[in-house]
Amino acid sequence: MKTEFSANQLADHEVSVSAGAIRKCVHCGFCNATCPTYVLLGDERDSPRGRIYLIKEMLEQEQQPTVEVVRHIDRCLSCLACATTCPSGVDYMHLIDHARHYVEARYRRPASQRWLRWVLAKTLPYPSRLRWALQLGHFVSPLATLMGRSRSLDSIATLLKLASANRPGRNVAVNSPATSIRRARVILQQGCAEPLLRPQFRSAAVRLLNRAGFDVEFAAGEGCCGALPHHMGRQQEALAMVRQNVDAWTRTIGDTPPAAIVITASGCGTSIKEYGFLLRDDPLYAQRAAQISTLAKDISEVLTPQALSPQRDVSAVRIAYHSACSLQHGQKIVSQPRRLLESLGFKVSVPAEAHLCCGSAGTYHILQPAIAAQLGQRKVQQLAALSPDIIATSNVGCAVQIGSLSATPVVHVAELLDWATGGPVPSALGMRYPQQ
Ligand code: SF4
Ligand code: SF4
Repeated sequence: MKTEFSANQLADHEVSVSAGAIRKCVHCGFCNATCPTYVLLGDERDSPRGRIYLIKEMLEQEQQPTVEVVRHIDRCLSCLACATTCPSGVDYMHLIDHARHYVEARYRRPASQRWLRWVLAKTLPYPSRLRWALQLGHFVSPLATLMGRSRSLDSIATLLKLASANRPGRNVAVNSPATSIRRARVILQQGCAEPLLRPQFRSAAVRLLNRAGFDVEFAAGEGCCGALPHHMGRQQEALAMVRQNVDAWTRTIGDTPPAAIVITASGCGTSIKEYGFLLRDDPLYAQRAAQISTLAKDISEVLTPQALSPQRDVSAVRIAYHSACSLQHGQKIVSQPRRLLESLGFKVSVPAEAHLCCGSAGTYHILQPAIAAQLGQRKVQQLAALSPDIIATSNVGCAVQIGSLSATPVVHVAELLDWATGGPVPSALGMRYPQQ
């Protein structure tokens, strides 16, 4: 696509990355077929190609973002299915990130939206605040049924339902040594929402890694990976979190780098693998941030079938595997989780439309509840068509979204691997598979 950015504009690194992405687009429209919002809404402006045009106009002419442009940018899930499909290698991720950042800096949203986004940005990334918010939300959640007359009220109703369905759990991060022949040490990312919403994911990951021969350590001072404010365009808040984590992990790494910084929430994984890019122009942080990104690995990248020894016969257990967008599109990790599950005997199948997002997408299910609900229902129908005993995924957001709509229990891949190699039955399966 021809661009007309001036030399002055291109001197800005963010603009030059976006200009490069736009130039690569050849208008073919292949991406539209795999874009969840285009599939649902059928509007070119809600497709990747349409958004690229809108963003190009806005950035090139340094326009004030209009209500219409913001609407179509906001509806993007950042699922990156388009990036997987694109034959030209368009860097859509950095383009939409730039567009969100640009909008946030120049567009004044209605007061209700500003308030909601502020509450989300000041609550979700902070575990102690989120704990209080979930407890408070649980008590006022009956109000959710009275809401839903406007998009903002709909969003608040979604938030209250989330609080109602998810009482905060407790899970203390304690360093834990390998319980079999020691291979290496790893740092396990703590995250912000996962330990509260699904604390069992981390417990399973620690047991599993220890059993596979890894000493597991945690970094003092680590916080939210920054993805939540980053995807709302709140760049300075996101970068402050990124720097805090780079400092925390660098201190824990010391002189001997671990085998990996292991991540169980794939949404965080995509974000942490971006640290090197995000801080590339910061002379104090660029090198350390690049090291953190190199070390960041999803748990399915660290484990191998050889390191897992089956202790239970799970050959009758049918798993429907939901691949999180952040894993399959963001990190290009497609087969590893399935291969690990199959190596222990689980029967694994993949639903139709596996490339489509479940609608969770960070804060998207709260900010765009109508589209998120449609995508969630569609995903659950495709998963149910497989008649599975269990749905497995690798991201807490997907687990919460699909779990709220599905009668089939949803667990983390790590919980299943832990169970099959000698750990307890995942808590969501307790009634179906009594302790053996
Ligand atoms: S990131 Fe997802 S929702 Fe956004 S344009 Fe690409 S495919 Fe569509
Ligand atoms: S598939 Fe790639 S090149 Fe084709 S329209 Fe979409 S972004 Fe552009």
